[in-house]
Amino acid sequence: MSTPFWGPDFDELTSTDPEIADIVLAELDRLRGGLQLIASENLTSPAVLAALGSTLSNKYAEGYPGRRYYGGCAEVDKAEELANARARELFVAEHANTQPHSGASANLAVYAAFCQPGDKVLAMSLPHGGHLTHGAKVSFSGKWFTPVPYSVREDSELIDYDQVRELALEHRPKLIIAGATAYPRLIDFAAFREIADEVGAALWVDAAHFIGLVAGKAIPSPVPHADVVSFTTHKVLRGPRGGMILCRGEHAKAIDKAVFPFSQGGPLMHSVAAKAVALKEAASTDYQAYAAQVVANSAALAKSLEDEGMRAVSGGTDTHLALIDLQRLGVTGAEAEARCEAAGITLNKNAIPYDPAPPMTASGIRVGTPSVTTQGMTEADMGEIGRLIGRAVGAERGSQPGDAELASVAGDVSRLVAAKPAYRRA
Ligand SMILES: *Cc1c(COP(=O)(O)O)cnc(C)c1O
Repeated sequence: MSTPFWGPDFDELTSTDPEIADIVLAELDRLRGGLQLIASENLTSPAVLAALGSTLSNKYAEGYPGRRYYGGCAEVDKAEELANARARELFVAEHANTQPHSGASANLAVYAAFCQPGDKVLAMSLPHGGHLTHGAKVSFSGKWFTPVPYSVREDSELIDYDQVRELALEHRPKLIIAGATAYPRLIDFAAFREIADEVGAALWVDAAHFIGLVAGKAIPSPVPHADVVSFTTHKVLRGPRGGMILCRGEHAKAIDKAVFPFSQGGPLMHSVAAKAVALKEAASTDYQAYAAQVVANSAALAKSLEDEGMRAVSGGTDTHLALIDLQRLGVTGAEAEARCEAAGITLNKNAIPYDPAPPMTASGIRVGTPSVTTQGMTEADMGEIGRLIGRAVGAERGSQPGDAELASVAGDVSRLVAAKPAYRRA
């Protein structure tokens, strides 16, 4: 079993709760032992983990710095002010709120700041890569608001900006959302801004997936174009699990009130402090090199998978993720996910645009490079990963963990990750 890498206090957990200690160590072994290609995950730094595992978790700090409902907030005030100032500076934003507990919590607050129940919201449809909080019926967003979904074009698999404009003119939505969970290409924020202005809607960019690439200056920023930008801090950005909102100064009061007290109680101050650490890391030149490598790796991985007979949706990627259509191989997304898992490669099945298969089967997989790039992998490794995925996915139908080919791939995965491990042992 591995030893923890972040400090001496782990012995306390081992003696108090050996069951949970074992789970924590086994999870660390899982991270070290396989390839993590889930596009929405990353490997946070020991510094971020140290802030997360700190006594700032104890503090009640309802309210905002200097305006708290509890005493004893002097130290956590400094942490939140640092987090906010670093966010404003890194993203060149007029206002930042670093309290949202998650991406979905941040999004709830944005709806609350800009909409009344029943208002129309134009957003990318879920099967084309939108998020549950962009109007899915199973989410508050679809239940309390009126979603108008837009699509990607069937020929190019790119956002259909003409359709976005037509729907905006027809429905006159209060809010237009740009941003998705499975869209591999750059989004034309200026085009969205123009459409929003034409119909008098506010423009909200949900940058959860790609904000880390913006922080690292690898792709253009939505901030100059949007009224409000929400995101998670744990994806490419590589911070703690959590959310954040940036907005123009005119919306600052509404956003702050929508986070607290409207939709949240006390902020998670250990997480706010860890967000500050992640923002400091993301402002470094090292992180900029990381972000550029994430994109280069993603393109190399998509290319390598094409060499294995798979098709990259939209013909490739400009970001940290690629959406891969498996139909040519006659393998479903669910089958590919299971075979890769048995070979030590973690990725997810994903619907592709106009997918003929139901969502639980899906015709595609989504692969992302944030985690493997944090481990120090480069384009040459992506070539190897593509070949390993090709072998795993191509393994005979119905193969089970232990089958010869999957076991052989698993052995090669182990060798690859041993050379560039996640969380290097001291
Ligand atoms: C991940 C994601 C979210 C939700 O984040 P959680 O922290 O899981 O609540 C919201 N919007 C988009 C576009 C996302 O990719």
